[in-house]
Amino acid sequence: MNYRSIKGTKDILPSETPLWQFVEQTIREVFRQFNYKEIRTPVFETTSLFARSIGELTDIVGKEMYTFQDRSGDSITLRPEGTASAIRAYIQNNLGEALPLSKVYYIGPMFRQERPQAGRLRQFHQFGAEAIGSPTAETDVEIIAMTIEIYKRLGITNYSLQINSVGDEECRPKYKEILNAELQKIAGQLSTESQKRIDQNPMRVLDSKNENDQKLTAGMPLITDYLNEECATHFAKVKSLLTAYGIPYTVNGRLVRGLDYYTKTAFEITSTELGSQDALAGGGRYDLLVKELGGKQTPSVGFAAGMERLLMILEKKGFQPPQQRPTVFIAAADDAAREWVLTTTMKLRSQGIASECDLLARSLKSQMKEADRQQAEFSLVVGATELESGKALLKHLSDHSQQNIVLEAIAEFFKH
Ligand code: AMP
Repeated sequence: MNYRSIKGTKDILPSETPLWQFVEQTIREVFRQFNYKEIRTPVFETTSLFARSIGELTDIVGKEMYTFQDRSGDSITLRPEGTASAIRAYIQNNLGEALPLSKVYYIGPMFRQERPQAGRLRQFHQFGAEAIGSPTAETDVEIIAMTIEIYKRLGITNYSLQINSVGDEECRPKYKEILNAELQKIAGQLSTESQKRIDQNPMRVLDSKNENDQKLTAGMPLITDYLNEECATHFAKVKSLLTAYGIPYTVNGRLVRGLDYYTKTAFEITSTELGSQDALAGGGRYDLLVKELGGKQTPSVGFAAGMERLLMILEKKGFQPPQQRPTVFIAAADDAAREWVLTTTMKLRSQGIASECDLLARSLKSQMKEADRQQAEFSLVVGATELESGKALLKHLSDHSQQNIVLEAIAEFFKH
């Protein structure tokens, strides 16, 4: 029988994991420095959690979720994003009681049944963060600055930041009415996808990728001109803080993002290094979501970013992560030494020294080849003669320098 991984999923192979681990470490480091703590939630949740938070009319909920009935008949969904689960956990565990502001982050797999293509998978990985409990523009900008810091830290410079304000429950409905009336006038000429959105979600029409839609809606009113005073003041503060932090941005009055829960600030980071799937990260403020999901009114802001797309850029740049390699490869010159080699390798490992030896009963020549292939820092050849003298020749594999070491003191040697 011939099994293949499911379409749109990918094995991350041992040759690729050093890059993943390096990037994950860098991301965790930045989160730590910004004082965000990790939260790990289950990869599946009750379907209605996502339908309620992301929005019934979004692409994600409408056609992309992996939803199934489990054996007891409950409707379960593999998480398509991280915010809904983080907020569910925040409410369920009363995190708001312990701290006025909860700063959490996550890294993990997400699932969406999209059409697979370069940079678009069905199981992909996101890292993201949520600042739950703050209404201030300072918090929005901390989230944006932290996202950008991650890319900077990894040497990615070719990105751009777009921001918008999508208003709140007071000014957005009024704007939507105005936009809806304008869109009705040209409804017949819009793409079928956009036509479907005119009534329920007219702002998504402005965000359409269809070129004809874009031309038709070019002069339409933008939300940024209809913000109430609170949203306008908040947006102005976000912009002035970004400038103060030296973070360049452009305002895109058409940016709405594909999730319904955003209020006020929305942002997206794109890169010209990517193909048609050029979005690296996105996020924004969601002041109504905690209450919507059954918690207290808790203003919050967050972001989510794709791992695979970030890695695509690093691979394209030829970035070489540190490799996992043994400090020492101990080779047995003859059968008499094999047991000593095995026990010594174990002893070194238990003292924290990465060590390797041969498990395939290979010749000395093959063992030395293996030491090279594993890029061991040192090799040590031990046979009956060495065991008798208590000394062996240690070779530094990168510069071929050699020195005699006392076998009894081998662990001490590597510890220094
Ligand atoms: P979203 O949750 O849709 O705002 O997506 C946030 C980020 O996750 C995007 O900017 C992408 O980098 C990444 N992403 C979203 N969907 C996929 C996917 N199907 N495959 C790979 N990366 C994705």
